[in-house]
Amino acid sequence: MKSLETKSTVLLKHHLKALRLPSFLEGCEKTAQRCATENVDHLGFLLQLCELELLNREKRASERRLKSARFPNLKSPGDFDFAAQPSLNRVLVAELLRCEFVERRESVIFLGHPGTGKTHLAIALGIAACQRGKRVRFCRVTELITQLMEAREERTLLRMKSSLAKFDLLILDELGYVPASKLGAELLFEVISSAYERQSLIVTTNLPFEQWTEVLGSERLTGAVLDRLTHRCHILESTGESYRLQDARRRRKGSRPKPATSSLSPADETAES
Ligand code: ADP
Ligand code: MG
Repeated sequence: MKSLETKSTVLLKHHLKALRLPSFLEGCEKTAQRCATENVDHLGFLLQLCELELLNREKRASERRLKSARFPNLKSPGDFDFAAQPSLNRVLVAELLRCEFVERRESVIFLGHPGTGKTHLAIALGIAACQRGKRVRFCRVTELITQLMEAREERTLLRMKSSLAKFDLLILDELGYVPASKLGAELLFEVISSAYERQSLIVTTNLPFEQWTEVLGSERLTGAVLDRLTHRCHILESTGESYRLQDARRRRKGSRPKPATSSLSPADETAES
């Protein structure tokens, strides 16, 4: 049914726009008609519009948080085949997905060989945190170090650090793939150090702790990083082999596993292969 644009509906729409209530604006006429036919009183009508506005507002905020997290893809826990990684503590993953570790400002470290799903699960935890209203940022360690060094050169390091400090959860992906320079390691240490007890960190790495010195350079720095990271920390270790390797073997044998469906960026898969 087409609504009659009376002077008061024109004015109402103008005011709703000024008040920044887009869902009120969009839904007011339809809801008014429905409430009239269902005999809902004025307060009930107002309640329905408020609920619509709140729901849409939360949806938009969640989308904004997901975007600002800069995940390389949107891998979900549902896409993860736990049977392929039996050494992984599935109960702990389920508990971490409730994101209470973010409230408690605890850390999570994913340890394991390449291809064992560390990044996949780190992203899944990050998405769960976004959905619970947490501000999350995903960074590859090598890229973060480069950005920190550039910021230092451009004298914007303080600004960059304070913008990183605003996140409830920082995901530091792939520590250990490339050794950091002395300065790079120190800048990374400062990020980890300032997150300590103020933010949650998720770190993924293929390096056992005893080899972190090879990446961070000095034993003193490695000790300090590990001291902060491993205090109030959950360690998830996957000792199995690469999922892609297992997948390739299954394909050769002719049985195809269920494909991961929620990847937004299939390029990620090929880039890593
Ligand atoms: P890592 O970070 O440990 O090197 P990734 O998380 O990048 O490994 O995994 C490599 C690819 O394999 C990704 O596309 C990921 O979704 C997929 N993958 C890894 N483990 C599993 C698993 N157990 N179930 C489903 N997909 C997996
Ligand atoms: Mg990875």
